Amino acid sequence: MVSRTTDDYQALVMAGCKAVCEPAFWAGFDRSSVASFYDYYRQLTEYEPKRAARFHLPHYSWICINPKEAEDLVFAREVIQIIPKFLEKETVLGVGEIGLNKNSKNEVAILEEQVQLALDHDQLILIHTPHLEDKLKGTQLIVDILQQDPRINPNKVLIDHVEEHTIRKVIEAGFWAGITLYPESKCTPPRAVDMLEQYGSSNRLWMNSACDWGVSDPLSLPKAILELRKRSFSEEEIDRLVYQNPVRFLKQSPKFKLDI
Ligand SMILES: [Zn+2]
Repeated sequence: MVSRTTDDYQALVMAGCKAVCEPAFWAGFDRSSVASFYDYYRQLTEYEPKRAARFHLPHYSWICINPKEAEDLVFAREVIQIIPKFLEKETVLGVGEIGLNKNSKNEVAILEEQVQLALDHDQLILIHTPHLEDKLKGTQLIVDILQQDPRINPNKVLIDHVEEHTIRKVIEAGFWAGITLYPESKCTPPRAVDMLEQYGSSNRLWMNSACDWGVSDPLSLPKAILELRKRSFSEEEIDRLVYQNPVRFLKQSPKFKLDI
């Protein structure tokens, strides 16, 4: 959690969190060079696991160039070239979060090239879907791109930030779906539980807490657990949603060590 303080690691451990999985994402501003990405990947794979270990919290990461910085094709391809050596690191679970932001042609090209990278290195894939008015179209585009490639095993792909109008599409296409929780904007814990009440839960669904540079809260997931209890979800169902499902997905990477 490169943009968070150690207080957050401590709070996560005290709330019962067993591991953190951090995707490579946008820094809140565009990075100016390939070297900047190189240092970011070192931070994710070398420094951050050590920082979390001080709190006895296993730290895993995903590596990629995010869709917000994929518009400059030459630059994005230079960054992609440095990714393979980081995929070999012992705490890296896969390629992510790749995906679309504004659904542009260049974003699609870089998405496809990073999917190819994941296939070449037999990696799990974590997908970011656009927000607000671009979400439905972007999610459909992503599902279409992935389904056109018979080499892709949908069970090894998680499509994140699903909402009411995209959750069914993702799960019924055979992919995993992630609901990303924020304290006030986008999907709050009560809205996530509304979605679960409407859609029902699935063996290929999980929730995750957004922990970025904006207003976000690492304890969103524990707060969602509280909300699930208030709405009378069984302890068994809650455990499946917040622990067993993510562990089953992540254990498809031999590097992920937690047991169900
Ligand atoms: Zn995202």
